Amino acid sequence: MRAEIIAVGTEILLGEIQDTNSHYLASRLPALGIDLYYMTVVGDNLGRLTEVIGRAFGRSDLTLITGGLGPTDDDLTREAIAAVLGEAPRVDPELERHLREFFASRGFTMPESNIKQAWLIPSARAIPNPRGTAPGWWVERDGRIIVAMPGPPPELQRMWEVEVEPQLARRAGGQVIVSRTLKTFGIGEGHLDQALGDLLKSTAPTIGVYARPDGVHVRLTAKAASREEALAIIAPMEEKVRAILGPFIWGTDDDTMEAVVGRLLKERGLTLALMESCTGGLLADTITNVPGSSAYLKAGYVAYQPETKVTLGVRRELIETYGVVSPEVAADMARAARETAGADIGVGITGVAGPDPLEGKPPGTIHVAVHDGVAPQTASFTYYQGRLAAKRRAVAMALDLLLRLLRQPSA
Ligand code: ATP
Ligand code: MG
Repeated sequence: MRAEIIAVGTEILLGEIQDTNSHYLASRLPALGIDLYYMTVVGDNLGRLTEVIGRAFGRSDLTLITGGLGPTDDDLTREAIAAVLGEAPRVDPELERHLREFFASRGFTMPESNIKQAWLIPSARAIPNPRGTAPGWWVERDGRIIVAMPGPPPELQRMWEVEVEPQLARRAGGQVIVSRTLKTFGIGEGHLDQALGDLLKSTAPTIGVYARPDGVHVRLTAKAASREEALAIIAPMEEKVRAILGPFIWGTDDDTMEAVVGRLLKERGLTLALMESCTGGLLADTITNVPGSSAYLKAGYVAYQPETKVTLGVRRELIETYGVVSPEVAADMARAARETAGADIGVGITGVAGPDPLEGKPPGTIHVAVHDGVAPQTASFTYYQGRLAAKRRAVAMALDLLLRLLRQPSA
């Protein structure tokens, strides 16, 4: 089944809201074995909306539309579908009764403009929407399906999950698309591509390489009659990829670095303390996004000025000799954090968030370190894509060092 998604709303085109509905729907289709070929955003304009829906209906088995089902003059999705199919809308008495009851039960009279939410055309049936006033439309003609759903995400998501997805699952031909993601850190996209070589030409499964803030992801995707069959197609290829990229792989699928770090710390009964410059507490924030992190995070210090670092135990002579932005100071911050908090492992981050250089070091310079009480390990990097990206990069580097330390048998 070939599908496309149309998001309706001038607000999206003006950059006022983000089209999260299309993203949500797209994420739900692979498990149904439905191939998504196009996504379109179109404003609240009857001519353009009719054109876009007409083109979709002409080329796709399934057209999913979100938005434009409200009561106002700029909610035009029903009008456009009716125009594409050449069918005239009429008020459905049952829907009208239901709509009037919805308002009455809340002590309001219904604005007459709302009556179009009780419209149907001959090829459409209403899809219930207990979270709002606008029912969806399930339209079928000439073997093709159009599903129109409301724009507000809570209404859309309930309608999709309860009313639409189960229907489509029955019709989509019983094929599923399953993906397995291997997450790497510390190897660039280009090198990774080169390392995988001819494997990238595989068609069952297909292999995709994607650069993300937490490293480069390798996604293996297979289509089969069942999830089990798809996984059986993926497994031998996963083994080959692991044989090549093993040392760089830190997690799979929904894993996050911070969750894997947390899991390993818990398994080993170890605690953590952080000292952050440059990242302003972003590492502590990231680590504490994991439920139960207070079991292993003892303290996170945000120390910007050299004097503050010294107060927390960083050696003044290192700052004076190497400068605050140096691997030596990052390592000493890790040691000091560990000792000050009485933790098993310390982490230090220092760098230049930018846009201006510091101590003659360019923006994007990052030094991170971990200290386990025996010796520090450090990593350094310089690449500037803006302040926020530099901070995120530093956090990912620190988490990567932690992962490597925690995987060592001796830690
Ligand atoms: P309403 O009855 O609220 O008018 P509607 O079905 O007509 O619903 P729209 O008018 O297009 O939908 O959008 C209503 C609100 O829903 C938007 O202001 C926005 O908050 C949210 N919304 C609409 N489309 C999207 C989208 N594609 N992604 C995320 N949110 C959206
Ligand atoms: Mg609206």
